[in-house]
Amino acid sequence: MNAPQASLPTEAASLDIGALPQGLYIDGEWRAAHGGREIEVIDPATEAVIARVPDATLEDARAAVEAAARAASGWRETPPRQRSEVLRRCFTLMTERADALAILISLENGKALRDARAEVAYAAEFFRWNAEEAVRITGEFGTAPSGTNRIIVDYAPIGICVLITPWNFPAAMATRKIAPALAAGCTVILKPASETPLTAYALAALYEEAGVPPGVVNVLTTSDPGPLTAAMLADPRVRKLSFTGSTGVGRTLLAEAAKHVISCSMELGGNAPFIVFDDADLEAALDGAMVAKMRNAGEACTAANRLYVQAGIHDAFAAGLARRMAALRVGPGVEAATECGPMITRKAVHKIDRLVRDAMARGARVLGGGRAPDGTGYFYPPTVLADVPLDADMAHEEIFGPVAPITRFHAEDEAIERANDTEYGLAAYVYTRDVARGMRVAARLESGMVALNRGLVSDPAAPFGGVKQSGLGREGGQHHGIAEFMEAKYIATTF
Ligand code: NAP
Repeated sequence: MNAPQASLPTEAASLDIGALPQGLYIDGEWRAAHGGREIEVIDPATEAVIARVPDATLEDARAAVEAAARAASGWRETPPRQRSEVLRRCFTLMTERADALAILISLENGKALRDARAEVAYAAEFFRWNAEEAVRITGEFGTAPSGTNRIIVDYAPIGICVLITPWNFPAAMATRKIAPALAAGCTVILKPASETPLTAYALAALYEEAGVPPGVVNVLTTSDPGPLTAAMLADPRVRKLSFTGSTGVGRTLLAEAAKHVISCSMELGGNAPFIVFDDADLEAALDGAMVAKMRNAGEACTAANRLYVQAGIHDAFAAGLARRMAALRVGPGVEAATECGPMITRKAVHKIDRLVRDAMARGARVLGGGRAPDGTGYFYPPTVLADVPLDADMAHEEIFGPVAPITRFHAEDEAIERANDTEYGLAAYVYTRDVARGMRVAARLESGMVALNRGLVSDPAAPFGGVKQSGLGREGGQHHGIAEFMEAKYIATTF
């Protein structure tokens, strides 16, 4: 289906947007912005304004840092078991309210409800996982090699953290930072994306209900993130910047943080290769490709951005993918039957369209989709392109949409060379029945995560993150995620 379907009754009718918390959340209070300016929140399926949230100023940002500073010692000294129980209650409440949260995510972000439900489950899991980690923070103790003294290493919360998140996973990108930061004993200021603030505020209300004390989590929305972030990073009490978003903004923020030598974790853009060898299980590879490409309608940093398919299986794979993509139901995310919702903005649709036109002009064949429909909503149809040349713009840029570009390859080395020919290195996918080859290729791929015969890598129990210009640091995983919010203190002593 290449165009949005006729309108169906939507799940959004059950949601009272006016009743949602929509102020800046600072020091446990809901506040208007200084100066009273607001940001409009748009439903990407209808282009209607569905809410307005405060547009924070520098004064609001300073107030948030003050609140986080006031709460810092109390939270740091709260026993790990108590912190853990608060986090566990956040998990429980999120799980109990999963349906309402999913509808809210779907409404402001556009993603299909099934994707929104999966996001809530994933987002909540960061609280359960970090509730378990909060009571397992240990230090180290040993004898110096010289034998003259003992080495004691203690881990302490790093301090106040500024967290900045994108719109594509409005719940999960926030909880993936907030949960480990709180588990480590830090207080935080979250700046969510201006396209999807409602989920961040709904979650802030939930944290409060779960027992997170005032000032431990502060949330502010702004249309002017650069100066506000700069002001917060300039405060010497702020010791951590954890950012998820584009590589371009990540570079800018690294430069800003460098002025104050602030610890940075960066979860940046991706350009994931999806490699299918001749010996792959065709149906499994197609199932995996649909997940890797179409979860969130392609608006994921881990989305398969380039599909390299070996010559012997190429035609069957391309035909199978085109059939599956054409069968997807496109429509507003909040309609229960929708499988592919709208893109986040009109600008995103234009970018996807530009990349598709460029590939076609360079000789790519359209096997389905390929043109944005007229009418209301930021829709783009599921699209499959074959014979996409290596110099096409989409081979080097994130498509961030429902477009699957396929390129044929012959030899293993050729696939690896193409896969690594990018500044990014977040996720990569490999399909082969030969386990030895799978492990060999996984080792040679320049990416922080490799999915071997799977279409999904995200798991709170595994370290998520990229190499090269896809980022610095890891989120989730055993110790990795929480370690980003702690600092080692070494004590040398003799006894
Ligand atoms: P973005 O434009 O980089 O924005 C991300 C966040 O940064 C938003 O909250 C944005 O605020 C804020 N921001 C923008 N300019 C800023 C500045 N000068 N100073 C401080 N903050 C600033 O990215 P996006 O379009 O929202 O998200 C898509 C990107 O995120 C893709 O590249 C995707 O790959 C990446 N991503 C990476 C991961 C990962 O784990 N590696 C996960 C998800 C997404 P406004 O909304 O107000 O502009």
